[in-house]
Amino acid sequence: MTSDSGPRMKITYATLRADNEELHAGFEAGVERVRVRLGASHRNLVDGAWRDGNGTFEVRSPIDTDIVLGQFAMGTRADVDAAVAAARRAQPAWAATPWGERLRILRAAAELISERLMDYAAVMAFECGKTRMEALGEVEEAADLIRYYAQTMEDNNGYDHPMGNLGDAAVHTRTILRPHGVFGVISPFNFPMALASGPIAGALIAGNTVVFKPASVTSWSAVVLTQAYVDAGVPAGVLNLVMGPGATVGQALQDHPGIDGMVFTGSYEVGMALYRSFTTRWPRPCIVEMGGKNPAIVTRHADLDEAAEGIVRASFGFDGQKCSANSRVYVEQAVHDDLVARLVARTQALRVGDPLLRETFMGPVIDQRAVDRWGAAVADARRDGRVFTGGERLAGGIMARGFFVEPTVVGGLPAAHRLFQDELFAPFVAVHPVASLDEAIGLANDSLYGLTAGIYSEDRAEVDRFLDRMQAGVLYVNRRAGSTTGAWPGIQSFGGWKGSGSTGKAGLGMYYVAQFLREQSHTIVD
Ligand code: NAD
Repeated sequence: MTSDSGPRMKITYATLRADNEELHAGFEAGVERVRVRLGASHRNLVDGAWRDGNGTFEVRSPIDTDIVLGQFAMGTRADVDAAVAAARRAQPAWAATPWGERLRILRAAAELISERLMDYAAVMAFECGKTRMEALGEVEEAADLIRYYAQTMEDNNGYDHPMGNLGDAAVHTRTILRPHGVFGVISPFNFPMALASGPIAGALIAGNTVVFKPASVTSWSAVVLTQAYVDAGVPAGVLNLVMGPGATVGQALQDHPGIDGMVFTGSYEVGMALYRSFTTRWPRPCIVEMGGKNPAIVTRHADLDEAAEGIVRASFGFDGQKCSANSRVYVEQAVHDDLVARLVARTQALRVGDPLLRETFMGPVIDQRAVDRWGAAVADARRDGRVFTGGERLAGGIMARGFFVEPTVVGGLPAAHRLFQDELFAPFVAVHPVASLDEAIGLANDSLYGLTAGIYSEDRAEVDRFLDRMQAGVLYVNRRAGSTTGAWPGIQSFGGWKGSGSTGKAGLGMYYVAQFLREQSHTIVD
């Protein structure tokens, strides 16, 4: 894909406005360059060679199902076998490559991703319906993840440290962290660049090699991302890509005895099944990052305007299809009606439509299943409570052949209702009045999940109580840019507690790369 250096104003998920004309012109030029590549064929990467699969599968755009994004090689178990074999062959030399050299190559990949910002963002806009701001932010994140993880490797001197000797100068002991071997990387559709680039970088920096399997609907992102690593000089076999729809490739990967570790990001159901089966022979490292049902708490000491903006951004940014999306709000009774009125006004002002257009805040959801999940939730809310705003499918004009729904705010439901428990992954937020902050924290923690949470309160004691008692990996206080969303590498570590993640160590943070390593102690006596 051609490169475009573009302007260097960095967009993050917390960027509130972008009136930089150059940035918009750059993105629009990227869209045109990508448009002429629609429908092209893409292959798997095994041992440094792009190769066919067993036929192809087609992917269409959620914006307009008449748009064919491409034909992608259908990976098989045999492709997984070949990719794992190549990764095993390549691993000893990659691990023996001085880590400084590994970092040089990976940082080159980060530079290439940044140079290709506009094209890669345009691919994602077509492919998963991200608006330009979300897509530009994600490409920047994909590059910054590499840079930040490289920095952590340096900060820890490659995880090679001298230890003590109990006073005997003839005894020299070091502790070193060493790679496991080959990691499988399985990524979700909703952050197809960042949640592939980050795990791949973590594994490679640590000296492992990788077999990468993306969500099938976002295979195009996977191909262009993989290309950046290849162009940066990642040697043959060190990074392999096998694509395919359904569970075939992912299942083959998790069943494979040649895989030494797994990093999976996706749903609770698939992640838990993988976690249970992956460790049957011996405890292979298995990093699973799963779903969320993320609450925001609003007390009567909140700035309600700030709260409403943060909640709307986090509930409806990328259509609520972020693992960190805000989908539950617990608000003190005294300010419930005021907050709901502000949420409704802000939600009704959102522009839903073609994500390629500058003014659009919300594009389509990913597929018909997402529309159906959202529709069932709306029906439940109508039956058991109230729809404050939204609730209709949109099908006019440009939206006739895509998956467009209204951002929806509901309430009047019992606290135990499934709409406060199930991850919907759709633009849908449920509001519930509470008598106190303690009740709110209790309800917020009464969840399978523990990924992100937010609070709005100007009372420091309330904030401290929230920070002390919330069972979630990522907490935000009084954040206008997003009540529960918008973490950035090296700024907010991002990982789930409870049913949201397996290791208690987060992505985007300082302990991430160490998860791809195992410790060895060397004692040498003179
Ligand atoms: P998904 O679970 O449907 O798919 C994730 C990946 O698993 C895809 O690549 C898919 O092809 C693959 N897969 C499917 N069956 C498999 C099997 N049997 N074995 C191995 N792999 C298999 O998830 P999705 O719909 O792509 O993504 C949305 C989900 O991801 C949401 O639940 C969201 O909360 C979660 N998510 C979590 C985080 C996080 O950091 N915690 C980040 C993003 C998304």
